[in-house]
Amino acid sequence: MANDDDTGKLRLMVDGGLCQGHNRCAVLVPELIEVDNLGFAHARGDGLVDEALAEKARIAVKNCPEFALRLVRAATGSETP
Ligand code: SF4
Repeated sequence: MANDDDTGKLRLMVDGGLCQGHNRCAVLVPELIEVDNLGFAHARGDGLVDEALAEKARIAVKNCPEFALRLVRAATGSETP
């Protein structure tokens, strides 16, 4: 369950050096991830995650087989638990 530190202040980031273009994340959370014409993932916009999408973002991070997704605190860039 999200707490005050997690809500509305998270950013989803894609490491383009690790992404292999499975599109798994784009299927799981299309609101936050788009893919380019080569199939590689990019965070939509500034990557900020609305509270309502935080859990889906966590699921996408856990399901990236390349560990290319990170969910960080937007203010500090630190990792979330
Ligand atoms: S699941 Fe991971 S490796 Fe696959 S497209 Fe998304 S970020 Fe890239």
